[in-house]
Amino acid sequence: MYDTIVVGARCAGAPTAMLLARAGYRVLLLDRCRFPSDSMRAHYIHPTGVAKLRDWGLLEHVLATGCPPIHTRTTDLGDFPLAETPSPADGVDFELAPRRIVLDAILVEAAVAAGAELREGFAVIDLLTDGSRVMGIRGRINGCEVAPVRARLVIGADGLHSLVARAVVAPITDIRPALTCAYYSYWNGVPLTGAEVAFRPRRVVLAFPTNDRLSCVAVQSPVSEFAAFRADIEDSFHQALDDAAPGLAARVRVGQRVERWRGTADLPNVVRTPFGPGWALVGDAGYHKDPVTAQGISDAFRDSVLLTDAIDDGFSGREPMLRAPAGYERRQNEAALPLFEQACARAAFTPFPPAVLAARAAQRTEDSSTSMQLVR
Ligand SMILES: Cc1cc2nc3c(=O)[nH]c(=O)nc-3n(C[C@H](O)[C@H](O)[C@H](O)COP(=O)(O)OP(=O)(O)OC[C@H]3O[C@@H](n4cnc5c(N)ncnc54)[C@H](O)[C@@H]3O)c2cc1C
Repeated sequence: MYDTIVVGARCAGAPTAMLLARAGYRVLLLDRCRFPSDSMRAHYIHPTGVAKLRDWGLLEHVLATGCPPIHTRTTDLGDFPLAETPSPADGVDFELAPRRIVLDAILVEAAVAAGAELREGFAVIDLLTDGSRVMGIRGRINGCEVAPVRARLVIGADGLHSLVARAVVAPITDIRPALTCAYYSYWNGVPLTGAEVAFRPRRVVLAFPTNDRLSCVAVQSPVSEFAAFRADIEDSFHQALDDAAPGLAARVRVGQRVERWRGTADLPNVVRTPFGPGWALVGDAGYHKDPVTAQGISDAFRDSVLLTDAIDDGFSGREPMLRAPAGYERRQNEAALPLFEQACARAAFTPFPPAVLAARAAQRTEDSSTSMQLVR
């Protein structure tokens, strides 16, 4: 019998398994994929997320893959482009955008190195229960059902369409329909100054450097435009870039797209209660929001720490087993709900508050007077 079974081995599941294994628990980490495995998701990580990689001793592994640190982020909210150093978090003042095929493999390897048992190509098909409490999982390998596996706790880190969340009928505490659709791909020969972000009334453009000297460029549009967008992706994408970020558009036209288009309109905004008897949720399984703020990976990292702390409190007896997960939900809500609102506002293309625009204008004036002084 395992202490925990973690279903899903990417940004949420692999760190959760790693941290639990490092704390001395017997962990089974399952994924229907085999790693290294890519994912139809972009991968821009804020300093809070980079700081977690550093804390876990994994940052140097990610940097060693040739993924460049991003020291400058230029944002244009429809007013003017403003270049800034990312706000430091936990002592980290740069961003990073490792390809998922690279990042997820590093996270899985770290979980295994910590002592978690990994089974790849393992699809969980149902949960074992005693009627009131989850006791384990049933699954298939290569299409054949295997013996059920039992654990004290089953953690659903199985993404937006989480089987664990559906099986336990995890209560939904907030739900808002998809507001945007997203398309992205990778280019050679598109020089970037760092990350470049442009917000327009019906478009968001994000471009950042990643592994193999490639630039990832992504466009988001209102979900109502999905059918028209996908009818001619190439043309829609370039038109969106022309409208929102003409300088970047010119560079992208000269560059060479080296991978297929990836796109989706399956971007609902959902918050679920993240625990119950014998189960817990982490990552997109518990809390999914529009990717417009590029917050999903950093959130998944943060919540894997909050969840493993709560589990450790409960398993070790420091907190009554029933109270520990409530602390996880409280701390997660404190951190995540403001970000959820922010993502929904950005995805709805809500105009930026005048105070934000005024602060940027003041920042620009300050920057230009500082550079004038330097010139003098
Ligand atoms: C288009 C797009 C762009 C994005 N861009 C960014 C970005 O730039 N920055 C950012 O931070 N976030 C971004 N996100 C969000 C981010 O990718 C997610 O928040 C993050 O991947 C969540 O990680 P996760 O581990 O919870 O889930 P996932 O990455 O979805 O992983 C879930 C895993 O569970 C496995 N699984 C599912 N069901 C089963 C089962 N029954 N049995 C076994 N295994 C199972 C899957 O195979 C998968 O490996 C983007 C998302 C999208 C859709």
